[in-house]
Parts: sequence; C-alpha cells; structure tokens
Amino acid sequence: RSFGNRSRIIMRGGLFVAGFIRVITGGMFSGKSQELICQIDKARASGNPVDVCYPRIAERQSPRDIQGRVMAMDDQSGVQLFALGTDEFSFGTIRHKLLSEIIAIDEAQFFSPHIVDVVKKWRHEGRCVLIAGLDMDYLEQPFGSMGDLMCLADDVVKLHATCSSCHDKPAFISHRVSPSLHQVEIGETNYVALCLECHRKLCSGDRQRKEEYGALRETARHPS
Ligand SMILES: [Zn+2]
Repeated sequence: RSFGNRSRIIMRGGLFVAGFIRVITGGMFSGKSQELICQIDKARASGNPVDVCYPRIAERQSPRDIQGRVMAMDDQSGVQLFALGTDEFSFGTIRHKLLSEIIAIDEAQFFSPHIVDVVKKWRHEGRCVLIAGLDMDYLEQPFGSMGDLMCLADDVVKLHATCSSCHDKPAFISHRVSPSLHQVEIGETNYVALCLECHRKLCSGDRQRKEEYGALRETARHPS
C-alpha cells in the first residue's frame, strides 16, 4: 500500500480524496451520524467500498445508531460494519481488519488515543477517513481524542442541534439529565441539547446541580 495506488479511490466532486481526513462533530442530537451515513452512501454510490466501524459499547441497536442506519440503506453493497473494542486501535490487527480505501468511524470519542496514530497511518497509505464523534462531554471538556483528530483533519464540519427547550436557538450544551457523574454515560435518554440561555435558566433553578457542575469542571481542568 502506498500513495501510488491512490487511483483506487473513485472521486466524485472532490468528496473522497486519497489521504483526506474529514471530521464531523458537534453535540448530542446534532445530526452527526446522519451526515456520516450520507457520505457513506455517496462513497458507496460512486463505487467505493466503505468499512464502517463504531465502538461496541455504543451499540444500542436503535435505528438512530450507525449500524441501524446502515441496515436501513436501500443499497448496502460494498458497505461493511465492524463493532470494535474501545482499545482496538492499539492492536496491529486493526489494519488487517479494515482494508477498504474509505473508512468511516462513528462515535470516535469513545476510542483510546491510539486512534490518532492509526488515522495518520491510514492517511499516508492514501486512504480517506471519515470520522464522526462528540466534540465535548457534558462538562464541556474535549471528548476523547476528538480534539487531536480535528487538528489532523483536512475538513471539520461542526453541527448543532436546535435547543430542545426553546426550539429556537442552536444548542451548544449536551445537558445531562441523569444523575450520573461519569464522563461516559451512554444513552440518548440521559441527555438534552440546550442553548446557553436555557441551560443557564435550568441550572439557576437547580442550585445544588450548579455547584456540582462547577466543582467537576474545576477538577477536570486541574486533575490532581
Ligand atoms: Zn433554548
């Protein structure tokens, strides 16, 4: 594998270029997986096989998941799904598993930091990598390796949901409604997408929660 075989990627409108990395990011409910599936479908339709991978821990078998969306595609030819362990990018075997010239990764924030080196290697092999994932956790801290992946990317698309409270402004906060304080709390029912104003209103109505958030943000910023 080298850049020499770049012609194996069929380009259409400059969308899928050898060695190109695109990151699709944003908060919860912002349409990242929807955008990723559109690109997967365009790649497939232009004759490129696509390997689609996602972390097994995020598998909920819901129609909104990437595997649900792939299953719902009218034509799935050339598209292969891979559920991976979160540390699977640390194993050399990953490169024998995913062989397509176009690789799509969903929920990339859950993978271990080794994902960054693997994506770099794929770039130098002339593969095109499409990555979707949450930019921040509920404490507004960069999530997993998404920050590094955005730096590597040739193109970054940031999407925003509409606030689920006022249904008007763009949502910048993935507000957690469940009481858990772990960074990873999987499940869309645990979150709502809020604009800054609605988030402020909600937090000022819940003083204890506000203090909890403040303390957590501090420890996340200055880990002991
Ligand atoms: Zn709002």
